[in-house]
Amino acid sequence: MFKLFKKKETEAEEPKAAAEERPVEEEHDPFPKAKPAKWKCMTCGYIYDPEVGDPDSGIAPGTRFEDIPDDWVCPTCKVGKDSFKKLDF
Ligand SMILES: [Zn+2]
Repeated sequence: MFKLFKKKETEAEEPKAAAEERPVEEEHDPFPKAKPAKWKCMTCGYIYDPEVGDPDSGIAPGTRFEDIPDDWVCPTCKVGKDSFKKLDF
């Protein structure tokens, strides 16, 4: 009995990861600045605290507001980052 084997050509091409973001290495600052600023949502008053982050949205504690992905939205009212205002101390 003869069997015909159909050879399937496997694609050697690897799927390219779409612009994978590398973790930003923290720069060494000889003059430690004050704590990263908190940001307030101007729509609902939610305050983003970098020390807390937004674990529900995958933002780890210690993430500066500036380092949050641009598609992040307010966990309370879902507005974008543009609706946040930096809180100065
Ligand atoms: Zn909000």
